[in-house]
Amino acid sequence: RNPSIPDIEQLEQDLLKGERSALARSITLIESNAEHHFRPAQVLLHKLLSHSGKSIRIGITGVPGAGKSTFIETFGTYLCDDLGLNVAVLAVDPSSKVSGGSILGDKTRMEQLSRNPRAFIRPSPSSGKLGGVHRKTRETMLLCEAAGFDVILVETVGVGQSEVIVRDMVDFFMLLALTGAGDELQGMKKGIMELADTVIVNKADGANKQMALRTKAEYDKILHFLQPATKGWGSRAFTCSAMYNEGIADIWQVIEKFTEVTQQSGVFEERRRLQTKEWIYSMIMDQLQFSFFQQPEIKVMLPKIENDVIAGDRTVTSAVEELFSLYSKQ
Ligand code: GDP
Repeated sequence: RNPSIPDIEQLEQDLLKGERSALARSITLIESNAEHHFRPAQVLLHKLLSHSGKSIRIGITGVPGAGKSTFIETFGTYLCDDLGLNVAVLAVDPSSKVSGGSILGDKTRMEQLSRNPRAFIRPSPSSGKLGGVHRKTRETMLLCEAAGFDVILVETVGVGQSEVIVRDMVDFFMLLALTGAGDELQGMKKGIMELADTVIVNKADGANKQMALRTKAEYDKILHFLQPATKGWGSRAFTCSAMYNEGIADIWQVIEKFTEVTQQSGVFEERRRLQTKEWIYSMIMDQLQFSFFQQPEIKVMLPKIENDVIAGDRTVTSAVEELFSLYSKQ
């Protein structure tokens, strides 16, 4: 047995008991890009599958500076300390793929929550050849559920694609917004608002409070005209102050109401089924991409063909056609 592969049965037992170290080790296994970790990680997941699914999964997005980490700190602490819930915080960091660095999930954020015995915080995985951040975050979510977490918060920076990825893995999706003038809001990416089950205008405190209330009203107006993100749920805007812990409990009540309404209508379960289906397809895409670019002949020919296209010696379509015929010969 390879010593870097943990004892899966032991890991399963410890994780089901809610042991943090077992959860952390299991996630490391899932996130590993080492090929010999792939099978054991899948064996572990398979064993834990029947224990997953019982949490409420909440996505949180917003531009840098909107107050996401402050909000998660306050909201998470409220859930842990006042409601006695176990809270896991995961991150989907769109930057890690490009820069190798990370905007989210550095250890200095959410200091208080990270020390809470009911909380578990995990920074964003990096993508790799055995599936991207998407797969790893979803699988990590299942592990957290099996370890007894009641609430999973998935944080992402609002820069486009990652919001759609997170929307596709959570039950409830919230946009954390800053106060702003009406014109700015009108110009906001409508696409993101269409994904949101609520918009929370943060920093509604001190001199900013009146402005925050006006911004909330503007958001309500816009939300009213949009297609609802979730069938049967009218998305609305609220204000809060993550820093002064105001309006935080109300947001949890909104989420509880949402869960109640959508579970009753069947929309909750239906969304999860669709998400699982979607997951299959996104993994197929991942694998196809990986196997295509890894193929030795493609690796050799791609730079040459690329040059030909750039030099104007051949068309993009014929280049791609040739690459695919090389690929499918294997
Ligand atoms: P993130 O980039 O979205 O994670 O934003 P942060 O949580 O790091 O917050 C950005 C800045 O806004 C920090 O200086 C926070 O202290 C501040 N901030 C966050 N929430 C509030 C709030 O409710 N009220 C006020 N006044 N400031 C806040």
